[in-house]
Parts: sequence; structure tokens; C-alpha cells
Amino acid sequence: MRPEDILVPTPSGVCCKPGGFFIDPTRPVDKAIITHGHSDHARAGHGAVLATQETLDLMRLRYGEKFAGATQAVRYGETVKLGGASATFHPAGHVLGSAQIAVECEGLRIVASGDYKEVADPTCAPFELVPCDVFITEATFGLPVFRHGDPDGEIAKLLHSVALFPERAHLIGAYSLGKAQRVLALIRKAGYDRPIYLHGALESITRYYQSRGVALGELRGVQGASKAELAGAIALCPPSALNELWSRRFPDPVTAFASGWMRVRARARQRGVELPLVISDHADWDGLTATIAATGASEIWVTHGQEDALVHWSVTHGLRARPLDIVGYGDEDETDGVTEGVNSGETP
Ligand SMILES: [Zn+2]
Ligand SMILES: [Zn+2]
Repeated sequence: MRPEDILVPTPSGVCCKPGGFFIDPTRPVDKAIITHGHSDHARAGHGAVLATQETLDLMRLRYGEKFAGATQAVRYGETVKLGGASATFHPAGHVLGSAQIAVECEGLRIVASGDYKEVADPTCAPFELVPCDVFITEATFGLPVFRHGDPDGEIAKLLHSVALFPERAHLIGAYSLGKAQRVLALIRKAGYDRPIYLHGALESITRYYQSRGVALGELRGVQGASKAELAGAIALCPPSALNELWSRRFPDPVTAFASGWMRVRARARQRGVELPLVISDHADWDGLTATIAATGASEIWVTHGQEDALVHWSVTHGLRARPLDIVGYGDEDETDGVTEGVNSGETP
């Protein structure tokens, strides 16, 4: 059997013919395995959804009770038999509940990793390396220019600025699923113990993280806080809110943005970000290439935009490699926030 007989790349996601399911399909299908809750991977309207409990809960929070016809929660390490194939879930280290899916059929193992990062994150289970024959990797930051560095160093920059400007608020743009909670956890890890303020659009997912045992300290809604209370405070909001009327309630705010794209200075300037924080929930170039090599896979399939450099790297390292032209991935958490802040429920 060829890998393409097990997983067929289609423009709307990879389809497992022998198992009768799709992984992260971008259009409604009968049976879907969902790797994680970001909106470009997890869509509403499938007949049945298999995912981790956290991913199912996050989909329910976003789309309501009727987001799928039926659901099945699968634990990390658990294998599900589906037709002539099996699927095993492994942690992807990307956001709470994120999973890589190892599909096996007739002795061939293909790992669809979804989005992943191999570095530590206090808000989710650590990435697990799964040896395989074919590895499907994202390439959100698939260019050598992307080296994220140490997130603790970025938080130290933030706290230095807070100490330097005690009368100003620090307003951090961070995506609502994963990034916001990781930034909160990193700030706490650095020893900052004052209340941190949240934009309304970040509250429900952040409360969900807390309900799953992720310690984030004392959090308060921005809604209802006085301007005096917000002086010297740290607040988080969806990136789109940084330049909205909403941000005017803050006294002379220092605007920050936590994203892997902040490595590119022009991006920060373009958004009017004073304090770029290079913090990403995706593997950087070194992480992608090291992970590809470590899986031992002889064939690499690449998704998510910057496919060319990673395909080239793989080929020069003796691997077969191809881009998957799946339409509609472009991460919610690292694109320009078009899906964020829309239903914030807050007035300016
Ligand atoms: Zn993602
Ligand atoms: Zn993605």
C-alpha cells in the first residue's frame, strides 16, 4: 500500500479512505477527527467528531451544543479502530487538548501532527515524538528567519517595561485560544502576582483553562474597571482590539503583541505595536526541521503556507517531500486575527 492509499490529500483536508474519516476537514463531512480547537481546524457541522475532551469542550464553547451530530472523546494514548484503519491520539504541545493523530493501516504509520510545538508550555501536555513512516507537518513558520527564542526573555522585557512605566497600562494583544493563557502562565511563572485584566472576548476560554487545572492567578474583567485601577496594570485582549475604541479606556497604554510574527519588525510597525513579544505556539524553523528528522519518517507532507522551504530542506536531507495544497488552513492563532474579537460582546 502507498501512503496515498491510506490518506488522500484533498483541497478540504486529508481523507482516510479505508477508515472512512477526514482529519481537520475544512468543509462538513460525515466523520471528522479534529486535532485541536482553532477555528481553521475545528469547524462546526460535521456528522460525527472524534477529538480530545478538551477540543470537544472548546468547540462547544465556540459553536454551541449542536456543533456536531455526535461526538466521541478520545484520550492521549488511546487507539480507535475505524474501518480498516486505526487512529491513535498523541499530545501536540500546541494548545490545551491538541493532538497528533497517528493513522495506521497495513503496517504503515502516518502521523498528522496538526499544529505543534516541541518546546515547553505550562498550559498543555508536552509534545510527544511519534516515530512514523510519513509525517505530515505544518509550516506556519517554515522559513529559516523564524527562530522564536526564549519566551521567558520576552516576558522579562514586558515586566521591565511595567516597572519602568508604573503609571501606564500595558495592553497585550494575544489570540483567545492558547496564546492568551500561555502568556498569563508565563507572567505568573516570572513572579508577577497582581491581578491581570481580561477583555471580555478572552474570558470564557480562559475560565475553561482554569477549570481544567491550569493555574493563572487572579484575573479580572476589564469591563467595569476604572481608569485609575487600570493605571500600571497588565491587560490582555484579542489583537484586533489593540487599535479599537475599546483600548481608549486605558491610561496611555503601552501596546504589546505576543506572536511568532513579531520576529518581523515590519509587522510590528505596521500594527503600531510598541512592544513586540516573540511568543509562538508553533514550532520555529529549528523545531520543525529537528522534529522532522527525529520522527525517522522517509516521507514528509507539508501544509500551512510556507511549504516550499521545508519541502526543499527535506529533499536535500534525502527525504521524499511534497506540499499539500489544503485550502483554508492559515492559523487562527497566528494570522492577523480576522476571526478574533468579532463576538467580544463588549462595547467600546
Ligand atoms: Zn492551531
Ligand atoms: Zn493550523
